Amino acid sequence: MFNLILLGPAGSGKGTQAKIIQNNHGLIQLSTGDMLRAAIHSGSAFGKKVKKIIDAGNLVDDDTMIQMIAERIKQSDCANGFILDGFPRTSAQATALDAMLEKEGMPLNVVIKMVVDKDILIRRITGRFTCTDCGEGYHDDFKKPKKKGTCDICGGHEFSRRADDGEEEAVRVRLKAYEEQTALIVPYYEKKGILRRVDGMASIEDVSKEIEGILTSLKVAA
Ligand code: AMP
Repeated sequence: MFNLILLGPAGSGKGTQAKIIQNNHGLIQLSTGDMLRAAIHSGSAFGKKVKKIIDAGNLVDDDTMIQMIAERIKQSDCANGFILDGFPRTSAQATALDAMLEKEGMPLNVVIKMVVDKDILIRRITGRFTCTDCGEGYHDDFKKPKKKGTCDICGGHEFSRRADDGEEEAVRVRLKAYEEQTALIVPYYEKKGILRRVDGMASIEDVSKEIEGILTSLKVAA
């Protein structure tokens, strides 16, 4: 079993890289943002409650998020290992994660921090969109579909943008939440000696190569 965290602000490429690692190594991507968006999509009372928080760019409360991950990592598809994408985001989540991993007898092998200049994050976030059918990610400037209006992967014609990506003000709130709360957990993992930094401003392929180098040196299960 091999478990890792991808840490970095919105737009730093965590989701993109998590999908690549998932394909290469059979570890499962656990994106708390995706889980919350699925709850919103389901129309549940919980989904309605979190939609307001997410659309404003704020963080959902720690207890809810900790419980969500505690339940998720016990599921059988996590047996080979997982990639946490978007969790932990606060010190309370980081310490709760340690406690739950210890309880389950699961290791935390590495925390990979994606380093990206703040100025380019806003452009990255506000320009991104995904194929509604297969979830492939695109960008208005950096990664357009090869044929306009057609998904490169599945040929679908419908695309969508995240509700919280369109509003520049909400994006700024998200980046501030990262700086004020999530960035504080970097020293926590640094002290444990498991933090590694990658240049998140390189191309998707080069970031992936850098991550592969780290995972290979740590002997990730193939
Ligand atoms: P993401 O897809 O990771 O950018 O997450 C989208 C939004 O979901 C965030 O802006 C938060 O409102 C919420 N969210 C996701 N993960 C967490 C978390 N671990 N703690 C608190 N809020 C979260």
